Parts: sequence; structure tokens; C-alpha cells
Amino acid sequence: MAGRAMKVLEAFGGEDRVLTLYLPLGGDVKQRIAHLKTRSKKLAEEVGDWASRPLEGLLEDLHLGEGRSPLGVGLFASPSGRSLALPLPSPVDGQVISKRPWILPALEALCPLLEAWVVWIHRGRGEIFRHHAVLERVEELSEEIPRKVRDAGFRGGEERRLERRAETSLSKFLKDLAWRLRELNAERPAGEVWVTGSEEVMPEALEALGRFSLPVRSLKAPKSQEDLERSVREAMGARFFQEAEDLVERILESPGRSVLGLRQAIDQVNRRALMSLVVEERRTVRGVRCTSCGALGLDEDQCPLCGSGMEEETDLLDAMAHRALLSGAEVLVLGRPSSLREHEGVGGLTRLSR
Ligand SMILES: [Zn+2]
Repeated sequence: MAGRAMKVLEAFGGEDRVLTLYLPLGGDVKQRIAHLKTRSKKLAEEVGDWASRPLEGLLEDLHLGEGRSPLGVGLFASPSGRSLALPLPSPVDGQVISKRPWILPALEALCPLLEAWVVWIHRGRGEIFRHHAVLERVEELSEEIPRKVRDAGFRGGEERRLERRAETSLSKFLKDLAWRLRELNAERPAGEVWVTGSEEVMPEALEALGRFSLPVRSLKAPKSQEDLERSVREAMGARFFQEAEDLVERILESPGRSVLGLRQAIDQVNRRALMSLVVEERRTVRGVRCTSCGALGLDEDQCPLCGSGMEEETDLLDAMAHRALLSGAEVLVLGRPSSLREHEGVGGLTRLSR
């Protein structure tokens, strides 16, 4: 997740004017194209050609009908000609021109989801998907797997032979599948593998793919690709909230390393001392920013780090997330209430004890 947000920050490092545009991509392709064309024209007129450029790229993709469309997209552009599109798994709306990419909405949408491989094993074939903003079908491997003979009664030589053949053939197939996954992952590394299929093949499939270097998790067999996408998301979301709650617990219980509330968090973000920053929900908080070194503050007249003057910062949480990410911290946006509520919805852990 953080990797995708970091790509945006790196692409626009050093820029001082960046357009961020979040667009929900609902409706059918025709409606979407019409909507994007209107938006693109308006942006070109009101802001400049540079602002409409990423929308034109998106329109081309839609015309080409590339894959399944994500539910939302974050578009970033600068007058120097840089532009980038970030597909999102949920519809987000908003437009800002500021000194940096507006990253918080993208973080909120992407936080629960990891880039992952999803493998669906059917009888005789396996489908490999890549999960990012959508579930994209990458490849299908097929092989005739003879049916296992499950006969409780007399097992003749022929049946045993068939059974053995079925077993060797399934294990060979799974080996091929694991091998192919390894090749794909070398080209596009992901964080984990989700495996699903019929109960009959799952134990062996989990074992075969378990030798892979990524964590492997199993899912209930889906009815369709849409069903599979939904259950991968739900499973990832549930895990994210569990992990986030554990992290919030740790923050509340480790006084030596914990940061609670805006003032403490800003102080540690300024010192680039955070290992993780947790923001409960996206909201607008005004603050100040140093005109010289970029350090943040709530209401200070002078920079706490270098003593220069401070200017207004209209989105303090976004500025904190930005600075924390660039200093190597993980930034989690929960998108729902938590025990951080009593601490202005902000908390974190420092790298070292204070
Ligand atoms: Zn400063």
C-alpha cells in the first residue's frame, strides 16, 4: 500500500504546484467517458492544459477498454508536465491544487488492501489473479487432472493406479502453478498469496504454495470472479482493522514510545522520529508550516526546528502523513472510529524510546 502512495510522493518531489483530482468511476463505460470529457474540458479552461492531461490518458485507457475498471482513481499533475494516475478500490471525490499531492484520501482507500496474488484452483485448471485496486486476471494454467477415485469398498488394482495417477498429476500441476507464480512475482513482487478452490484440492494446494516465499492464506471457494474479489477485500479489510486495533492498543500501552494527540504527533513527525503514524479519520485540521524547512505546527509563530516564519497549512493531517511517509514511517488511515478518539484521532509509535 505505502509503496503506491510513495510512488506519488516521489514523482512529485520538488514540485510546488500539484493538482490532485479524485474521481469516482461509476456507471457504464459510455457514461464514464462522457463525464471525464466534460471534466477534462472544464479543467483545461479553468486551470490549464497541464491539468487535463492525466484525464486524457485515462480516457484513452477507457476507450481501449483495458481490463476491469477500478471504482475510483486519483490523478496527479503538475505544470511541469508530470502526471500520474492511481487506481483506487473505492469511489473518492475531490479536487485540490496545492504545494504537494493530496495523499490522505488515497491512503484511506488503499490502507486495508495489500498487493497480492490470488490463485483459484478449479478441477483441471488454475487461475492466477493480481489484486490491487481491482482483481485482475493474469493467467490461466490448465491441465487435465483425472478425478480421484473415492470408493470405500473394494479397491482394485485399476482404481489404485488411477488414484495414484490423479495424485501425481495434481501435485505436478500444483508444482507448475507454484513455479509460475514465482516467476510472476519476480516481475511484479506482491505481499502475499490468497488461495481458493474446492475442499478436495485445498490441503495439497496450500502445502504446494506454502513453499513459496510469501505468506499464503486460504479463502472459501467463491461462486464467481466478482464473489472472489469481494471475499479477498473483506478478508483483507478484516485483517487490516484487526492489525490496526492491535497497533492502537500498543500505542496506548507503550508510554515510552507512544505519541498521542496532535501536538505530540507533530513534534515527532517534525523530528522524523516516527515508525508509525495512525490517523483515525480524514478531516480538515488547520495548522502552520515553516516557510523554510517545512516543519509543521499547530499555531506557532516561529519554526520549532529552525526559527523561520510559519505560514498557514490548510490540511495539517495530510501534511503530517506526507512528511511521515517521506521519513520512512508507515501511515495508517483507519477510516473509522477507534480508541484514539480521546486523543484527537491521532497516534503513533516512535522508533526509539523517548
Ligand atoms: Zn523550519
